[in-house]
Formats: sequence, structure tokens, C-alpha cells
Amino acid sequence: MAELSLDKYHTPIRCEVCGDTLTFMGVGEYKCDKCGHLMYDDYGVVRNYLEKNKGVTVVEISMATGISQSQIKQMLKEDRLEISDSSRVFLRCEACGKEIKSGRYCPACEQLAAAAEAKKRANALREERQMNMAGFKANPLKGEEGTRRFKREH
Ligand SMILES: [Zn+2]
Ligand SMILES: [Zn+2]
Repeated sequence: MAELSLDKYHTPIRCEVCGDTLTFMGVGEYKCDKCGHLMYDDYGVVRNYLEKNKGVTVVEISMATGISQSQIKQMLKEDRLEISDSSRVFLRCEACGKEIKSGRYCPACEQLAAAAEAKKRANALREERQMNMAGFKANPLKGEEGTRRFKREH
């Protein structure tokens, strides 16, 4: 399509609500002259997404917005997006907000999360075991006490 070169960022031409003409408001934003509906070109879409999701990767932006990674990288190169390091976009730890390269938590919080998870599993397991023990009319007694009880019962 010949339009492609002119319409690199899918600039909206008509209001999707009322079909009226749009006025460019800056930073990828367009406002309908008639109903005031706001529309965005690809840059505006990516910018909005970045504002709401700080520190996401190019891959994540691409998946969320449907705009190609190369297009996003091109925007980054053109400095149309406000990201300090144009080659690498970081994720942020969900717990402390520290910059990370993958996953949901930084190593420190990952450990805490894993420990909390392990504790939860251990508790669930212990409860389950106690339920089973209750069926045998015996408490999970340890060592001598358990042995004595065992002997007494036989
Ligand atoms: Zn409109
Ligand atoms: Zn953290």
C-alpha cells in the first residue's frame, strides 16, 4: 500500500466514534473536532502503555499493543519514547521495584517469595499429615514418647 510510507505510525484520520476529522494534539494523540474523542497512533499507543507499565520490555510492549518490535525499536531510536537506555528496557521487581532483566522479582525478593511459598507448602503438608494421623488415632509424636505410646498400645 502506498499509504504505508506516509502512515508509518498508523495515524488515525477519522474519529472512530462520530467519523469527524481529528486534530493532532502532540505526542501521538489526536482529538476529534466534533465529539472530543481521543485517538492515538502507534506511538501514542506505545507511549500510553509505557506510562501505565513502567519498565516493561520491548517484547512485552509489542505483545500488549500489537505493534511490531521493530516498530517500537524504531521509535526508541528516534527518541520518540522516553526510555533512558534505548537498547534495553528493564522489568521491575513486583515487590521492591528494583530493575531486573527477567521474571517477576529481583533475586532478593525471589528468595523471600520462594521462602514464603515453601513455608505455605510445608504448612499445607503438615495439616494434611495431621489429618491422616487423626485417622490412626495417634498424634505425630516424636522419638521416645512415640515409641512408648506404640509399646503401650500393643
Ligand atoms: Zn468524534
Ligand atoms: Zn525486589
